[in-house]
Amino acid sequence: MNVHEYQAKEVLARFGVPVPPGEVAETPEQAREIAEKLGGKVVVKAQVHAGGRGKAGGVKLADGPAEAEEKARQILGMTLVSPQTGPQGKLVRKVYVTKAVDIEHEYYLSVLVDRANACLTIMASAEGGVEIEKVAAESPEKIVRLAVSPVAGFSPYLGRRIGFSLGLSPDQVKQFTKLLSGIVRCFLETDASLVEINPMIRTPEGEVVALDAKISFDDNALFRHPDIAEMRDIHEEDPLEVEAGEAGLNYIRLDGTVGCMVNGAGLAMATMDIIDQHGARPANFLDVGGGASKESVTAAFRILLRDPDVKAILVNIFGGIVRCDRVAEGIIAAAKDVEIGVPLVVRLQGTNHEEARKMLEESGLPLIVAEELDEAARKVVEAAKGGAR
Ligand code: ADP
Ligand code: MG
Repeated sequence: MNVHEYQAKEVLARFGVPVPPGEVAETPEQAREIAEKLGGKVVVKAQVHAGGRGKAGGVKLADGPAEAEEKARQILGMTLVSPQTGPQGKLVRKVYVTKAVDIEHEYYLSVLVDRANACLTIMASAEGGVEIEKVAAESPEKIVRLAVSPVAGFSPYLGRRIGFSLGLSPDQVKQFTKLLSGIVRCFLETDASLVEINPMIRTPEGEVVALDAKISFDDNALFRHPDIAEMRDIHEEDPLEVEAGEAGLNYIRLDGTVGCMVNGAGLAMATMDIIDQHGARPANFLDVGGGASKESVTAAFRILLRDPDVKAILVNIFGGIVRCDRVAEGIIAAAKDVEIGVPLVVRLQGTNHEEARKMLEESGLPLIVAEELDEAARKVVEAAKGGAR
């Protein structure tokens, strides 16, 4: 789960990470009040779950309360389009009004899970700031990476090594080490999967501050953090993923054209791979679970069909505990409830698959039955390419 910048900063501040003061506003008038409280120059920042807001016009400097109100009026309600939002952009419903800070230098800093090495990795760069993607692509040697040992945890030498390599002075390295230790502690204690500070900045007075913050939390650990779970903003999430979550389906939307309905995560991954091999891209990952009941199959069809990019659907179910005839029953019943307006390829294998096949053939539904996975993938890719919706 991702959260907004203002929420990420609130969490980081609990761990002693220095962030400029600020508050969130939903109306221009509230933005004005916050600016009055803060005093001096402020920055009004669009709160959406995407970066690149600065370049997209979602971060604006204001001289005082009146200007903060005006800038908030411009930003609230705008559809912010940045490389991270996709072309459809994101509607801005909240702004963060925060003290303007003088910047002498911008740095990139992040902590993430390094799965290959089974540890946390710290990444930092003295170059980057908003151009970090370019640095990563063109001069990756300018990014310092350091592993945090899962046994020893954070130790101050990590801060010193990275701090000095960023060119910070001894006093700033001390501040940086404290900031970094706060971030690592925050990461571990909140079950985060990513903390990204871009930019971390140095002020002309030599202070080191987190000016932007992004945190992703591990969904599977949210039950341990009810205060963080409450930060969920469903406006920022894919509505289809929210609906799927409510129906108990494991669904992740992707950018292809072949809708997939599969039982079991491993088979779902293999199905996506084989679709790719046959020259099309999966529109989603969808694991209907071991049960694959009529209800879950119907809910799955509904969700798949609401994605306008889906040009054909592949149902690939292995009947182990669940019997194929029950799944076929589910598909036939679901097809009566939901109008499936795209080609549908069905492959059922395992317990009672012959009965299932007969039921599907006799149902009169315009579906394409496949026996083998390879054949199923070929047929669905053909159908997706030919089938305009
Ligand atoms: P995004 O990453 O979405 O573009 P940032 O929070 O990183 O948004 O802001 C973009 C840029 O705006 C920063 O790199 C920084 O130069 C400037 N900025 C952001 N917050 C402040 C602030 N409080 N004071 C001064 N400048 C700021
Ligand atoms: Mg940023």
